[in-house]
Amino acid sequence: MSGAAPAPTPALEPLIAAALAARAHAWAPYSHFQVGAAVLCDDGSIYTGCNVENATYGLTVCAERTALLKAVSEGRRRFVAIAVASDMAEPATPCGMCRQAIAEFAQDLPVVLVNPQGVRRETTLATLLPGAFTPEALLAWRAERVR
Ligand SMILES: [Zn+2]
Repeated sequence: MSGAAPAPTPALEPLIAAALAARAHAWAPYSHFQVGAAVLCDDGSIYTGCNVENATYGLTVCAERTALLKAVSEGRRRFVAIAVASDMAEPATPCGMCRQAIAEFAQDLPVVLVNPQGVRRETTLATLLPGAFTPEALLAWRAERVR
């Protein structure tokens, strides 16, 4: 993860704005930790998500997976970037479960981490999740079994 914020990439500004706005919809009565996420698809469309907590705690769904699943359920499969917004001084990174969920579709996706104060960090999924278990690995295993 880069330490200093790079010059803003204009193309990512709408994605970042969408992630920040999505925080307002978070259902977080237990943690009070509001997270928003937005995924940019290769056709230019953006899907947003927020964290949705549950009284059982275990059923809580993160903002990143909410956004990803909304996009996939609407037919999107190719992603350009994901933005994640939290109000942490050092913007929060996706949890391990979300990293693996994203890796199903894009193993080296740019990940932009932001907060409402304007802090911005750019990294990639490959940096956050080295050695991800990928669909290609499973397909290779299946091909070996068929031989
Ligand atoms: Zn997560």
